[in-house]
Amino acid sequence: MTDWDPKELLRPAFPGLEESDLAELASVAEIQRYPGGTILCHEGALGDTFYLIVEGHADVIKYLDEENPRRLLHRLGPGDFFGEMALVQGGPRTATVDTDGPITVLEIHRDAFMRVLTRSAPLSIRMVLKVTSRLRDADQTAIADLRHKNQELRRAYHNLERLDKAKADFIGLVGHELRTPLTVMSGYANMLKVDERVQEEKRLSTLSQGILVGIDRMQNIVDHILDVSRIDSAVLQMRRVPTAVAVLIKEVESSFESALRERQLTFHSEGLSELPFIMADGDLLYKAFYHLVMNAVKYTPDGGSITVSGRLVQEKEGDEAIQIIVSDTGIGIDAEHHELIFEKFYQTGEVMLHSSGATKFKGGGPGLGLSIAKGAIAAHGGDVWVESAGHDEQVLPGSRFYVRLPLYEWKEGKAFEEEE
Ligand code: ADP
Repeated sequence: MTDWDPKELLRPAFPGLEESDLAELASVAEIQRYPGGTILCHEGALGDTFYLIVEGHADVIKYLDEENPRRLLHRLGPGDFFGEMALVQGGPRTATVDTDGPITVLEIHRDAFMRVLTRSAPLSIRMVLKVTSRLRDADQTAIADLRHKNQELRRAYHNLERLDKAKADFIGLVGHELRTPLTVMSGYANMLKVDERVQEEKRLSTLSQGILVGIDRMQNIVDHILDVSRIDSAVLQMRRVPTAVAVLIKEVESSFESALRERQLTFHSEGLSELPFIMADGDLLYKAFYHLVMNAVKYTPDGGSITVSGRLVQEKEGDEAIQIIVSDTGIGIDAEHHELIFEKFYQTGEVMLHSSGATKFKGGGPGLGLSIAKGAIAAHGGDVWVESAGHDEQVLPGSRFYVRLPLYEWKEGKAFEEEE
């Protein structure tokens, strides 16, 4: 191995350092040689050594994430030093330093290095300069990274927006295109039903009734598709009038009267009649609660119960809102789905598709109910979220859907105006 003189190696690295200080550092310095692939500093580990590269190269790297596992910050060569930041801070290494080929370094232990550092102005200045330049580099790299990531995010967001618009347009188109033939089919099926020959023949009348039930179901789905499409495309026309939530929920309950009876589900309401009127579009809000109750019916086994409760809540800055909770004793929902179920067509994968009876236990739907509910509630300035301890068909933890609707100020005359 070459006979290196530590003092002559240190001199160019620390210009202006007193001879005595140089001599002290040199007296404790050790020359070491490492093979390629050696990790000299581990990010996060405590380090007590200062390194000056004599021969060879070292890479300063950070391990970021799965996508970007190894990020090269600097490539260092002869005359460069590293490992000083952890020594000065008395903290862990802020990056990893490794070698791809053999390397020779001069090593100085922390104690000697700090001893000289505390009394030597030139060494301190050199350290301050080095540390600030490293910080500036890190800053620049972080800003460049952020810019790059922002651009990527913006591009991805625009693409998603375009895709979402294409999807919404397609849904709207399908809804409209299906509505006309369905109306025609419904007309003919009704003609069949009232035809004397069909009425006389029991089998034919059962068949025509079956066709009508199927068409009715399809019409329902098409209506939901059109609702979603209207909410999505923001062409929603709202007519807000003073509305009593208790009456609305009563109407919803009536819509499910036969399903509740058939499935032996009990329906309770609590605290609704004490709630103040809210300025709401009754039809739209009815749809929101219709879908929430429909789901409670669908995802609660026979014999369970559904409760709709309401209360007034104080919001920040003295505003008030009403909170309605639709809770059931059903199969529940795992936390990972709590946000996604409000997206169009999202289902948790637990649904078995029943071709008949939308109110059967786990009867399949197109996955639009909650997205309509969310859109209708958002149009009233409110929000909806779910709480559930998880999905379990034995334990039946149930689900609680919370609806928050802000109370609008009563404005004489304004209340009955059409809103765009
Ligand atoms: P769907 O037509 O499938 O009912 P929704 O948008 O109404 O569509 O609901 C989305 C999914 O959320 C459902 O497929 C179901 O898995 C889950 N879900 C909704 N409400 C409940 C509930 N009360 N209990 C359990 N799961 C529910």
